[in-house]
Amino acid sequence: MSGVLEVRGLSVQYATPRGPVTAVSGVDLDVGRGEFVAVVGESGCGKSTLLYAVAQLLSPPASVTAGSVLFKGHNLVTMSEKKLNVLRWRDFSVVMQSAMNALNPVRTIAAQFADAMNAHAKLSGKEIATRSEEVMRLVGIDPAHLRSYPHQLSGGMRQRAMIAMALLFTPDLVVMDEPTSALDVVAQRSLMAQIKELQRALGFAVVFVTHDMSLVSHFSDRLLVMYAGQVVETGPTRAVFDTPAHPYSRGLLDAFPSIHGPRVALTGIPGGPPDLGALPSGCRFHPRCGSALPACPSQEPALYRVGDAEARCLLHAPVPEVTP
Ligand code: SF4
Ligand code: MG
Repeated sequence: MSGVLEVRGLSVQYATPRGPVTAVSGVDLDVGRGEFVAVVGESGCGKSTLLYAVAQLLSPPASVTAGSVLFKGHNLVTMSEKKLNVLRWRDFSVVMQSAMNALNPVRTIAAQFADAMNAHAKLSGKEIATRSEEVMRLVGIDPAHLRSYPHQLSGGMRQRAMIAMALLFTPDLVVMDEPTSALDVVAQRSLMAQIKELQRALGFAVVFVTHDMSLVSHFSDRLLVMYAGQVVETGPTRAVFDTPAHPYSRGLLDAFPSIHGPRVALTGIPGGPPDLGALPSGCRFHPRCGSALPACPSQEPALYRVGDAEARCLLHAPVPEVTP
């Protein structure tokens, strides 16, 4: 395997009082060395759950019910917590949505960096201090801020400190859950540019979860569009942006007209995503789809090849598969 990450048939269920609810259904995801893969979709589509399942950070009531997560050839799903702890931070790391929640408010940034390093390696105090200063410089923060508490930093600086922490051991893979969503648009763009620059310079791969298609258009190599727990379209970012094959991807792109051409009225997608405990029959998107065929409410689409991409839509099924 030449890639860093190879996810096959991954499914995640939440135990609920109404019975098990499948939040992620049979997802495949490949990430090559140094590749930037974006996972996009509305809130509740399963994209964060997928990310936490990949990083083995799910806790009850959520659990992986099927599939494998091969990271550099090791299946993380069946790995012991002890072995996982060796890989976490050193080989792959996670950047959460809100640094304010992820960082400990009563410890300085330096103390939290030291905790992370001490938990995963035997380093001297001097080595820890040197590395902490290096990663702060990498993300463009004056190392003097190592002495700061999280609340003394701006929102953008806190997110950058989280990214610095994720890079302490120069991992092969960094998974990021909406790391810019708490920031204003200008700070978002500058943080995205910085993540991309670091990725190019250090060569790590990124899986980046976001609800904002426009945010990843310039930064990701490949795109995975999720809807109701499934991948509905996947392909090179350019191909998906230029010719979205799935009606849902088209709807997401229409919600951001400024990146797609001249400014037009926002159309978006009518309605909301389905209740995962009561999924529509056939194609899960059919109640909201403006292109639905008579077969769509009864026939479940597979992922069909469309040029360089794949789309889970009967419009792209080889002809014999569509029943009249
Ligand atoms: Fe729309 Fe049918 Fe394609 Fe589903 S399978 S996205 S309902 S056209
Ligand atoms: Mg989320």
